Amino acid sequence: MKIYAFFTLCIALLSMVEIIGTYPKEDFVSPVNRDIKLSGTFGELRTNHFHAGLDIKSLHQTSGDPVYAAADGHISRIKIDEFGYGNALYIDHPDGFTTLYAHLDHFTDEIQDYIKEQQYLQKSFEVDLNPGPDKFPIVQMQQIGYMGNTGNSYGAHLHFEIRHTNDQTPVNPLHFGFDIADHHAPVIQQLIVYELDEDGQVLNSSIMQPKLTDDSNYLIAEPIELASQKVAFGLRTYDTEDGDDNKNGIYSIQCSAEGKTKFEFSLDEIPFEKARYINAHIDYKEKVNQNLFFHRMYPLEGNRLPIYSIGEEQGRFMINPEYPRQFTISVSDFKGNASTLSFQVVQLKNEAPRSAKQIKYNTIGLPEAVTIVTQQGIQVVWPEGCFYEKTPVSVNLVPGSHSGNYSPYFEIDPVDAPVHTYFNVSIDGLSVPPSLLNRAFIARCDPNGSIVNCGGSWIGNTLTSGVREMGTYTILVDTIPPKIKPIHFNSNMTGWVQMDFRISDNVRIRDKGRDLMYSAYVDNEWILMSLDGKTGLLTHKFDGRIPPGDHRLMIKLTDDRGNESILEKSFTL
Ligand SMILES: [Zn+2]
Repeated sequence: MKIYAFFTLCIALLSMVEIIGTYPKEDFVSPVNRDIKLSGTFGELRTNHFHAGLDIKSLHQTSGDPVYAAADGHISRIKIDEFGYGNALYIDHPDGFTTLYAHLDHFTDEIQDYIKEQQYLQKSFEVDLNPGPDKFPIVQMQQIGYMGNTGNSYGAHLHFEIRHTNDQTPVNPLHFGFDIADHHAPVIQQLIVYELDEDGQVLNSSIMQPKLTDDSNYLIAEPIELASQKVAFGLRTYDTEDGDDNKNGIYSIQCSAEGKTKFEFSLDEIPFEKARYINAHIDYKEKVNQNLFFHRMYPLEGNRLPIYSIGEEQGRFMINPEYPRQFTISVSDFKGNASTLSFQVVQLKNEAPRSAKQIKYNTIGLPEAVTIVTQQGIQVVWPEGCFYEKTPVSVNLVPGSHSGNYSPYFEIDPVDAPVHTYFNVSIDGLSVPPSLLNRAFIARCDPNGSIVNCGGSWIGNTLTSGVREMGTYTILVDTIPPKIKPIHFNSNMTGWVQMDFRISDNVRIRDKGRDLMYSAYVDNEWILMSLDGKTGLLTHKFDGRIPPGDHRLMIKLTDDRGNESILEKSFTL
C-alpha cells in the first residue's frame, strides 16, 4: 500500500513537471517589439467568458503601433468580423502553438491586398480565410499589421493569444517567458462568506471588508460568527503592474485551513467551449445585481472548468462552536507576488441558521436533468447541463401586462440565476395578426426597461426562440425599417479618400436574433464596405476600383425581421 502511494506520488510529480515543461520560454518575442504593458491578463473575469489572452497597451492610446510576428511560421487564418476580434490574424508555428493578433486596425499591404481580393470574390466584408502553409510564410519580427480598435474593443490595443494549434485551446501567454515588470502583490478588495446548509446549498451570504495590515497582508480581526454548520468563501481581487494603475486579473488563489491547502485554482489553460462556465466560477448574483466579480472558492455541481485542485472538503468547510477554524486565502499574480487574507470562523451556539427567503417556485432545476415549466400561454424548457446547481425556477405573469400587447409579459425566475446553455421560450401568439406574423419576435425586457430582440420562429401558433438569460419575456413586433444616415458623403467627392454612413436599428439584438445585413453597389456592381459593429459606421475607401466620373450608389439594409431600407444617391468622383 505504501509503495503504491509512493508511486502515485512520483507519477503525480512527474506529470506536473511535464505540464509545466511543455511551454517553451524562448520561442516568442514581444509582438510590439518593446516592453509589454498590459491592460488585460489571461483568465481575467469578463461578461460570459474568461479573457483568452493578453491585452497589450498602445504607446499613446491611439491606433497604428506596428504589430510583429512573435515567431517564425505561416499565416493559417485571417478572420474579418464586424464584432468579436475585429480584424484578426493567426500564425501557426512549428513548435505546436498558434499566435493570434486581434482588433488590428489594418494589415501590411500584401496581406491587406489578399484579404480585399477574397472579400470581392465572396462579396462580403466578413470573411474567414485559411491560406495554405505556403501562401504567407512569416519570419519572427516580420510586421503583419497595425494595432487598432476593431470589433469588440473599446480603445486601441493588441489582443494577443497563444493557443495549442491542435485544439485551439488558449494558454496563458505569460508561460512563454514574456517579462512583465510587476513587483506589486494583488489587492484584496472583499471577502464573501457563504453560509451553507447540509447539502452545500447557499442559505445566505455576506460581504466583508478586510483590513490591510502591511504591504500584502490582510486581516479580519474579529472571528466571523455564523449559525450554519458549513461555510464557503469567495474573493474580489485585482492586480496591478509597476507604474500603472490598470486593474488586471490575478493568476491563482489558494485557500487553506489550519495551514493546509484545501482548494486552489490557477489560470493556465481554458478551452473556449468551457469559457462560459465563468458564470459558475463567479458569484453570478453579485455580477448581475451589483456588477461585482467575486471568484467563488468552491465548485458548483455543474461547473466543468479544468482549473481547480480540490481537497476533500470541496471548499465547503464544517465549523463548530468549540474551536474557531483558522483560514488563510492567498492570491498571486503570475510573477509570484502574493497577498494573504487571514480570518477565523466559529459557529454560534444554540442558534438556528437564517434560512434563505422562502420563495414560491414551479419546479426545481437540476444540473443533470431537463427542466420544463408549462403554463397558460407559455412553455419554458431548460435542457440538461443548463443549471450549475439546484435552482428553484418559476414563471410568473407580470400583473397588468395583458392589455394592448400580443402576449402578456412573463417573468422567468430567479432573474439572477446563471444558465449555461440556450433554453427554449415558447409563447402563444394567437393574438398576433396574420399580417404581422413574420415581424413578431421573442422580446427580452431588461430591468432598465430596454427591449432586446432574441429572434424567434413559429411552430403552429407558438413563437419559440433560444435564450441564455432568465428574466422577462413577451412577444413584440418590429415593423420599423433600419436607418442609413450619410456621415461623410457628397454629390461631388472628387479627391476624397472615403465615404462613411451610419446604420442603426430601433431594437437591439441578442441570442438568436440576427445582426443588420447590408450590401452596397455602385452602378450595380458590389462594392466593399467595412462595418464597425459597435458604432454602426459603414465605410468605403476609394481605391481606384470606381473610376473617375458620374456614378449611382445603392445601399440595402435589412434587419432581423426582414424590414428593409434602401438608400440611393448619385455622386461624382
Ligand atoms: Zn483582449
